[in-house]
Amino acid sequence: MYTTARTHGKPTLAVWKFASCDGCQLTLLNCEDELMALADAVTIAYFPEASRSVIDGPYDVSLVEGSVTSPEEIERIGEIREISRTLITIGACATSGGIQALRNFGDVAEFRSVVYAHPEYLSTLARATPISAHVSVDFELRGCPIDKNQLLEVLAAAIQGRKPRIPTYSVCVECKRRGVVCVAVADGTPCLGPVTQAGCGALCPTYARGCYGCFGPQDTPNTSSLADRLLAVGMAHKDVMRIYRTFNAASEPFRRESERQERSLMEMSVKAATPQGEGAP
Ligand code: SF4
Ligand code: SF4
Repeated sequence: MYTTARTHGKPTLAVWKFASCDGCQLTLLNCEDELMALADAVTIAYFPEASRSVIDGPYDVSLVEGSVTSPEEIERIGEIREISRTLITIGACATSGGIQALRNFGDVAEFRSVVYAHPEYLSTLARATPISAHVSVDFELRGCPIDKNQLLEVLAAAIQGRKPRIPTYSVCVECKRRGVVCVAVADGTPCLGPVTQAGCGALCPTYARGCYGCFGPQDTPNTSSLADRLLAVGMAHKDVMRIYRTFNAASEPFRRESERQERSLMEMSVKAATPQGEGAP
């Protein structure tokens, strides 16, 4: 999957930002203990969040944070792909559209008119999309934000020309490995862990909270079965819809399930608005 062609002696690293909060880039800066070793292993050639110094491309490895939300960004990601030997997307924004993809379920023109005094100055797309919707991506690193150790593993793999060891099983496996009491079983707390990819170390369940799905869908997510279980223990359709509509709302399995819940909600409201006896044979 990875190429190991080098420029300037060491592999060059570029870090790019699209629509995002910068949290995933900060994960790289927060590496602290490992940052010097990383700087020894690669030439950090383009990373505006860390340095104004720039080395021209092409680059061996590009990390891309953020989703595509404007026409200019479609053009820009194409240019970045052309000058990147290996392109890795980092975080929920880049891999599934992020929290800004909630716009995909609404009317962007209406949002713009409510939020901005002069929406006519804005150039924005109706949908926020992941980087992979526009260019080929060599690896997608999940999380909101990404996990530091997973990032270092992906970078090491890219430098060494091997496949990264990133698990695709669920958060439940992390709970079992760490001996965390299951909040869903013990307290009836709604938890997206069964359908969410591991990577956070079961952070929320460790603190007696349900998983919010930051790392997106695991490799075989049974989202409808989990939704049916949540409904069976008393959760409303609108709340089940909402727990699937957060950081990874536009990822295919979560989107499909939230739309199924939305349809159920609409059917229930139509039924409630229909006078009794009307439509009966
Ligand atoms: S994935 Fe989360 S932490 Fe990373 S840039 Fe997007 S909103 Fe920020
Ligand atoms: S707390 Fe959540 S993630 Fe952990 S085992 Fe229970 S359902 Fe799975």
